[in-house]
Amino acid sequence: MPFAIAIHGGAGLVRRDSLTEERRAACEAALHRIITQGAEALAQGTTALDVAVDTVAALEDDPRFNAGHGAVLAADGSVELEASVMNGLDARFGAVSLVRTVRNPVRLARAVLERSPHVYVAGPNAEAFADREGLARCDNADFILPERVEQLTRARAKGRFQLDHGGGEQDVYGTVGAVVCDAHGHLAAATSTGGMTNKWPGRIGDSPLVGAGTWADGRCAASATGHGEPLAVLGAARRVATRMELLGEDLRTASQATIHDDLEGEGGLIAVDRYGNIAMPFNTAGMFRAAQREGETAQVAIWKAR
Ligand code: ASP
Repeated sequence: MPFAIAIHGGAGLVRRDSLTEERRAACEAALHRIITQGAEALAQGTTALDVAVDTVAALEDDPRFNAGHGAVLAADGSVELEASVMNGLDARFGAVSLVRTVRNPVRLARAVLERSPHVYVAGPNAEAFADREGLARCDNADFILPERVEQLTRARAKGRFQLDHGGGEQDVYGTVGAVVCDAHGHLAAATSTGGMTNKWPGRIGDSPLVGAGTWADGRCAASATGHGEPLAVLGAARRVATRMELLGEDLRTASQATIHDDLEGEGGLIAVDRYGNIAMPFNTAGMFRAAQREGETAQVAIWKAR
């Protein structure tokens, strides 16, 4: 079975003229480095779940993306993180929200999946669980970049909350996700985010919701990005699997229809099936993304092909 991996770094209004050459190159280099690491792990026989979590953790650690270090700010100026992971092999799911001091929320989501009796834990009690799991903690301020403070100030002035790549912003960050098909044809998906700039403290988006931001079963794995509320209402990530199952669509058709026909909002998703096919549709100006299949070179892109 050929392995395959796809990652995203968020979708939004990323106009070609709003991204400096330097930033574009830095983002593309980060995506290339991280997808290459994931593909190398898959070539060594690492499981889909391990690769999905490690890949999203690497994206969380990279300040260019809206997750972990470098996440966007809520209306009160703090960072509230959320993440989820699903293992297609046994359809187990784990998610966390309202996390303010856990260095890698996706690793905490995995701990919920593997070592708790629950699927979703939030707030201070999720952070206490992180301590029991020996996961790294940090100050909330450690996540905050100066450009995020400026971004929040602009969003406040406009009186709205916004997609990381939306509203004419020049920032080059976004929610992150990974979908993986390993050498055994097993699937996994993971997603992590700081949410949307100027969101209400306590707001929960699509990213940690099972079937909305993240889904994996025996058929396909998907991770969504974009305006969280419509993605959540649609159940965007699971919708791909449902279309494949009920309508007999292939991965590409089901993914395109989910984003271009069914979604009533801005967004995109990445998806992979058990044969290693990859789809990465989006209805926004751009989506930071990369894909690699066994025996092929990594593909990195932000905009649609001209
Ligand atoms: N979907 C995320 C949220 O609404 C935002 C994003 O994808 O950038 O929280």
